Amino acid sequence: MGLLYLGTPLTWEETKQYADHVREHGITQFLHTWDAVKDRTGDELLWGDEVEYMVVTLDSEQRNAKLSLLQTPVLEKLGDTLTDLSGDSVPVAQFHPEYGSYMLESTPGSPYTGSIVDLLSVESNMRYRRVLIRKHLKHNEVPFTLTSFPRHGTLGVFAEPHFNPDDAKSSHSLFLPEEVINPHTRYTTLTANIRKRRGSKVAINAPIFIDKKTPRPFVDPTIPWQRNIYPGDAEAKNGAALMDHIYMDAMGFGMGCSCLQLTFQCCNVNDARRMYDALIPIGPLVLALTAASPIWRGYISDVDCRWNVISESVDDRTPEERGLVPLKNNKYVIPKSRYDSVDLYISPEWINKPAYNDTIVPYDEAIYNRLFSHGIDELLSKHIAHLFIRDPLVIFSETIHQDDTSSNAHFENIQSTNWQTVRFKPPPPNSSIGWRVEFRSLEVQMTDFENATFAVFIVLLSRAILTFGLNFYIPISKVDENMARAQKRDAARSEKFFFRKNVFAVGQGTPDQLSGASTPTDCSDCGSRSQSKSRKLRNCFPPPARPATVEDVLVEDEYEEMTVREIFCGKFSGLLGLVDAYLETLEATPHERQQIDKYLNLIRRRADGTLQTPATWMRNFVRSHPAYKFDSVVNPEINYDLLKAVDDIERGILHVPELLPEDYNSPHVNGF
Ligand code: ADP
Ligand code: MG
Ligand code: MG
Ligand code: MG
Ligand code: MG
Ligand code: MG
Repeated sequence: MGLLYLGTPLTWEETKQYADHVREHGITQFLHTWDAVKDRTGDELLWGDEVEYMVVTLDSEQRNAKLSLLQTPVLEKLGDTLTDLSGDSVPVAQFHPEYGSYMLESTPGSPYTGSIVDLLSVESNMRYRRVLIRKHLKHNEVPFTLTSFPRHGTLGVFAEPHFNPDDAKSSHSLFLPEEVINPHTRYTTLTANIRKRRGSKVAINAPIFIDKKTPRPFVDPTIPWQRNIYPGDAEAKNGAALMDHIYMDAMGFGMGCSCLQLTFQCCNVNDARRMYDALIPIGPLVLALTAASPIWRGYISDVDCRWNVISESVDDRTPEERGLVPLKNNKYVIPKSRYDSVDLYISPEWINKPAYNDTIVPYDEAIYNRLFSHGIDELLSKHIAHLFIRDPLVIFSETIHQDDTSSNAHFENIQSTNWQTVRFKPPPPNSSIGWRVEFRSLEVQMTDFENATFAVFIVLLSRAILTFGLNFYIPISKVDENMARAQKRDAARSEKFFFRKNVFAVGQGTPDQLSGASTPTDCSDCGSRSQSKSRKLRNCFPPPARPATVEDVLVEDEYEEMTVREIFCGKFSGLLGLVDAYLETLEATPHERQQIDKYLNLIRRRADGTLQTPATWMRNFVRSHPAYKFDSVVNPEINYDLLKAVDDIERGILHVPELLPEDYNSPHVNGF
């Protein structure tokens, strides 16, 4: 998200009245984009990451770690610094606001190219961004890349300054004060309108981790069951708060989490659609590998990831749309929250069989017909018409009327509030930017070494997909099932995931050799040649042609359940084997290759279970803390020591070989 428009938000009643207006003009805007760029081709690989931080005050006197709520001025100062540092040239970093008033987001100053040198500058760029942030914070504040703040929304003091949740006028939360939300009206309005549209507060229930002394049944004594300030205060006792669960009731519990996202520019629209599809089944697998959020509202949970918490935290569906009561005022029963895993594969390639789109996907028929009669194919029309079943949540009175030939704001209003595991991003009007795909499932890692690892791995995997014409399709219902499994405690080691037996589009791949891979061909669009080794990560690979005879395999026979180790290291040479084979097509120096191998080694060791996920490590830290009473409670003292330890790990002072490889170089020893 770039600069935030400062305007006057409409009330929810007014917003509802403009919903069709926004949808209609949003589609007009998309059609203008489509006409302008549908044939655009030859775009090089440009890509970038987004890292989200939560700023925490480490109060050594009280031994308390508290979210530091006043980051808006810090963001402004960071912006000024970058302008001063860079003069007229391109800045090395960018900083953006995020949902939490304690949050910051950073991206590289401009996207990376496909050069190997850029690939290997990701980690130092991330470190530089963190150093810049640190410079603008108070001496006892730290920018943590933690996915969830362990004591967010607990009784007592979890934020600095401290506010009482009785003032939660946007969310009506029992736990989170208004001031944890970024003060910009967009965020508070989004919060209030999701609640109003739904007709109640959001209800999030994460299963609690039952430890030796956790009271059973677990009925949370810290919920203010009897509060009576807002109409929704009784929801908790009337069934919204589930027994044996950690109950949360506000958008801030989910959107106040941090994550790591990656965006790739593709050669053309069809390549973007291929890439989008190929990354869909990868989403849950790397979610399991990056799992980093085992603690919620002061309790250890039985899940390791943020995904369902965020999904429930912005679930604006009415009871009719959730299928709880018959449809009367709403148009559709909608199976998923606006924040959820992808619903439809969209590639026009022959390997995308119709049978893979096997779930119920409601879509707006009038919008579908409009797109289809404009000449857009069925799959893409359905994708857009599905996104557009949602209402706009925030409309500013100043921007209701737009020039649809030069603005995409109405389109983006709906598109950017469909928060899925992968996002297909059309080029903005009148810009040099091409078709992009954003990969959104990764949990942010505690160190930039790990964040760079996952960025580098996904970009290399994306190149292997294009180079070898890989086929990762499994039915969407199985991807959804994988998403559910990925979040379970210790999923990377204990769960099995649906995955294809043969990932090669053509022929039967044999393990160890890529004999089943299609031979890379030259690209007529950008002239890049496949046979010569290159110092650049290429973007253009024509998809493998459909062979004369395609073996007719039943979809159910195409996939099986595998462990994470098998998927990454084992069968069909594993995803790491494919990345390795891709690296052989690059002209990397031995030194560069060694650096890349450090990253791949971290992935390998997470996948084979010889290193822990951050979630497992945090869980173990809490359970071995002397103040832990085996009752699932993470008290302020444990939280303080946990965050101190995380900061010490990040700064290279504390070594944790169960989490990071022995040769992990701390930033202060090496580089910044
Ligand atoms: P959003 O919050 O909408 O996802 P951001 O602006 O925060 O978007 O992040 C976009 C990411 O995409 C950044 O890492 C940026 O470097 C990268 N990026 C910018 N331009 C391009 C491009 N043309 N192709 C691919 N990635 C790009
Ligand atoms: Mg962003
Ligand atoms: Mg954004
Ligand atoms: Mg963000
Ligand atoms: Mg942080
Ligand atoms: Mg993003």
